[in-house]
Amino acid sequence: MERRSRKAIYRSALAAAIVVGLAVPAISSAAGPGNPTTDVTAINVVQRDLGLAATYWRAVNPSLNAPCTRERVLVTPMTDAMGNDGTNVPASDIWAETALDQCTIDISGSMWQALQATDPTTEYAVCTTFAHELAHTLGMPDASQSPGGMLNASPNARHDPLCSRMAYGHVSPAAHEWLVEHGLAGTLHYAHS
Ligand SMILES: [Zn+2]
Repeated sequence: MERRSRKAIYRSALAAAIVVGLAVPAISSAAGPGNPTTDVTAINVVQRDLGLAATYWRAVNPSLNAPCTRERVLVTPMTDAMGNDGTNVPASDIWAETALDQCTIDISGSMWQALQATDPTTEYAVCTTFAHELAHTLGMPDASQSPGGMLNASPNARHDPLCSRMAYGHVSPAAHEWLVEHGLAGTLHYAHS
């Protein structure tokens, strides 16, 4: 999902700067609902999924220029945003959102809860969501048509063989073909936590 309001972005950037300024540990046990903005960038699951996301988009389009030296992931309240092809999506329906060409991925309290889950379905959903949001940091907007459905605002439309392999430990024949085609069949680009 794409973040709509620039003001909101600056507000959360400011809030994050204040948190950093206090030199509190980056990961708070109180992260999530009730603690408005918490930086969870360093968490293993986040780093694993961002790594898979970067590998995915490098495979899809090697000429993509990554503008962020490091993405930041914040648990923060969602705002209304744009979904597929510029349609409006209410904040209550949003798991995560990222302003185009910005390096901060905002995740909701419910996605934060999902990050703690260890069942494959949820791990897959979280993984593909990070891959989707990373595309926004690369400047790609939500779109009903995209490779693997990965730019679709609807999580159900997305197919990422790297996330499949990570979450389920196996892939469909089509996903295996994709991994082979992109030279990724033999290597695991993530650290198991
Ligand atoms: Zn999106």
